[in-house]
Amino acid sequence: MKKFIVAGNWKMNKTSQEADAFLKSLLEKLKPKAARELLLFPSFLSLPTFQSALAKSFVQYGGQNCYFANMGAFTGEVSPTMLKAVGATHCLVGHSERRTLFGETNLDTAKKIQALQETGLTPVLCVGETESERTNNTTLAVIEKQLIEGLSQSDFSKPLILAYEPVWAIGTGKVATAENIREVHAFIHQFCEQKYKIQLPILYGGSVNAKNCRELEAVEYVNGFLIGGASLDPESLLTIYGG
Ligand code: PEP
Repeated sequence: MKKFIVAGNWKMNKTSQEADAFLKSLLEKLKPKAARELLLFPSFLSLPTFQSALAKSFVQYGGQNCYFANMGAFTGEVSPTMLKAVGATHCLVGHSERRTLFGETNLDTAKKIQALQETGLTPVLCVGETESERTNNTTLAVIEKQLIEGLSQSDFSKPLILAYEPVWAIGTGKVATAENIREVHAFIHQFCEQKYKIQLPILYGGSVNAKNCRELEAVEYVNGFLIGGASLDPESLLTIYGG
């Protein structure tokens, strides 16, 4: 049985001291569940705190972004090798905030996935449509392009995770309907099966919280969540994880 993945994206929130306090409070109550994984994406600066606090824990963690070279003159960037050295196992790629605020392209996501897989880390490729793309009925075409271009350098024999995050549902409190989510997840599932002959875990992200998580978890082809705001509070994360 594949495990349901509960992943938290902290974005630019929490200092390393706050991260430490969060982990202490989380670990006091957290009990592992056989059918679930827990994964957190803190700021780069909190990764060493995670490494010490989670040394004996099943909780995994990763970077919110990385560069596609492993070293060199790339001021301000962080490499997959640096992430691995602090115990990271995963890295987000192509989050909508990276795409819209920092100009990340599908080609960038492809190169990052390749570099992460070569380093032994699991990329989590985020895809999703904007509100106007949904209104114009181009949702599936936009996602297909993000997948074809973003996965063009991927090694499908290595771990890889996808996250469907409608841009209009991220941080807005607007949640996609179960039918919206089922349609897109089914499309991604079938696309990957037909084109790459593989079934990849597909997370849903967009205003998931402790109140709506059970209903969303029941949607077909939803294999986990990518959670922003609601992952910042240990109690709500514990509820979503199911602990
Ligand atoms: C996200 O940052 O990936 C996200 C889904 O945020 P939120 O849960 O706050 O909508």
